[in-house]
Amino acid sequence: MFLRKRAIERIANEKVLYRRYGGGDIPVCVVYPNVYRLGMANLGFQAVHHIFACEPRVAADRAFLPDADERAAIRARQASLVSLESARPLTDFEMLAFSISFETDYLNVLTMLSMAGIPLRRSERAGLNYPLIIAGGSAVFLNPEPIADFIDLFLIGEGEEMVPEFLDVYGEARGHANDAAPPLDQLGRVEGAYIPDYFTPIPDEAGRIGSVRYSGPGVPRVKRRLIQDLDRFTTASLILTKESVFGDMYLVEASRGCQWGCRFCAAGFMYRPIRYRSPERLIAEATRGLAERNVIGLVGAEMASVPGVAAIAGAVADAGGRLSPSSLKADCISPQLAAALVRNGNRSVTIAPEAGSERMRKVINKNLSEPEILHAAEMLMERGVESLKLYFMVGLPEETDEDVREIARLTATILARARTHGKHVGRVTVSLNPFVPKPWTPFQWDPMEDVQSLKGKIAMLRAELGRVGGSAIELDAESPRDAYFQTLVSRGDRRVGAILERLSAIGCEEPGAIWHHLRKIRREAQPGLPDPDFFVRRHYTHDEILPWDFIDHHIHKWFMLSERKKAHYEHQTRPCDVTRCTVCGAC
Ligand code: SF4
Repeated sequence: MFLRKRAIERIANEKVLYRRYGGGDIPVCVVYPNVYRLGMANLGFQAVHHIFACEPRVAADRAFLPDADERAAIRARQASLVSLESARPLTDFEMLAFSISFETDYLNVLTMLSMAGIPLRRSERAGLNYPLIIAGGSAVFLNPEPIADFIDLFLIGEGEEMVPEFLDVYGEARGHANDAAPPLDQLGRVEGAYIPDYFTPIPDEAGRIGSVRYSGPGVPRVKRRLIQDLDRFTTASLILTKESVFGDMYLVEASRGCQWGCRFCAAGFMYRPIRYRSPERLIAEATRGLAERNVIGLVGAEMASVPGVAAIAGAVADAGGRLSPSSLKADCISPQLAAALVRNGNRSVTIAPEAGSERMRKVINKNLSEPEILHAAEMLMERGVESLKLYFMVGLPEETDEDVREIARLTATILARARTHGKHVGRVTVSLNPFVPKPWTPFQWDPMEDVQSLKGKIAMLRAELGRVGGSAIELDAESPRDAYFQTLVSRGDRRVGAILERLSAIGCEEPGAIWHHLRKIRREAQPGLPDPDFFVRRHYTHDEILPWDFIDHHIHKWFMLSERKKAHYEHQTRPCDVTRCTVCGAC
């Protein structure tokens, strides 16, 4: 059967860069709720799998959402979903540990449980002999509520210390029994554990969360976990495979968080305070990676501000490799960094103005002026970069049509400067994403813009870009329909779980089908299902309980509100100075 053959080939094509222990008496399957090539490119998934795989008491395996052809074959044979390595049905494991980085993968969690023959709702599994289902990852520490009815226990925050503590508590509570998992109240002793059963949100007459009934021990707050010193842990590629979407790279995580505080960006708030790995550690990790791949992918929210980044890029270039940073803030690109980046063949660089007008960049707190953007483009082109990718957003709070037209004007100006300063300037690609309001940001109360209105803005921008740049500017725009689903699962509460359950039951897996059914639910009220617009298109009021309020991210709500007000008045906030500042509550 091709499924097993493919799994065996995948394992044979992997290179594992550490020694696994394995063979313990607790069988755990670490699950990535998307396909193999994406899961194996995800450092968070690799890191958590590594923790389980190196725990002597655990026998760890992996599972991924099967590819489309694999799903079709599994369903045609009415077979059950199995793990990658040992081909065991997922029901055979004592624990399934989902690692979820993107909230849009919440639907895949349900798809995978269903393909494994596991009842979706926690209440339907109660008292029955199914695996304990836990979940962690960056999506769930923003807002786990859309899948709260399906998961037994969440681990909220960074896992390096929390997961081993959880396994200690689990092993202790389980003893040597081979049967049922330990009671949840024992597992809930770990700081960061969130047991959704303890919390019952009660809607008010307007449908908002009016109150939350709590039946657990202590206080109804879950403290998200962060590690203080990134150098104590390595977060880098641990298993290499060409099939990964970053198959030609060795990935190294440089930082968590971001000092700049862009008001739309969850990474700049959820991981506060900003933490960097030391340049020595990064150079050592990059050097190790160069033995495997000649491209080192430097991963984090913003890479031009990483201390010593030019030296790291230089060291990689000296060794004959190439550094590929995930994103660069234009005004932080030094001449040394630009030179080191292009030395061994980097011909394409991504910078992120995010907005076209100075006004909108102040609204979003980008702390980036047009002269700084143009200077960075010139510097990169003079040193040999041939194509630039520019990230922009559309549909941001406070945005006008004029702000959208400014994206085309700025792109044309960059192109003109690049042609003046570069020797071989090829293309400028505009990557455009509809704004999705994220929990734990100053824009968390704002709705997503209407899909039709966004389509109109994108069409207008396409026409403007064609007019000013012709075929030298390419527009790559994310669909507003996809952004609608993303907003639903970003801002939703537990009631969104019923929508996910319906989508899963009717086999909606592709974006087009998801939108089709969401539109149907919006147009015709359906029993038991909330109106998705309630979560996507509504201004959340400043005094209502937000679905994710029970998580303690150490950030004052008044700080978020003051940032939202400053956005309205186009006032910027200076970047974080973690040596002195205590304003937001995170330091
Ligand atoms: S307390 Fe100040 S420096 Fe620390 S994360 Fe908050 S804003 Fe940044």
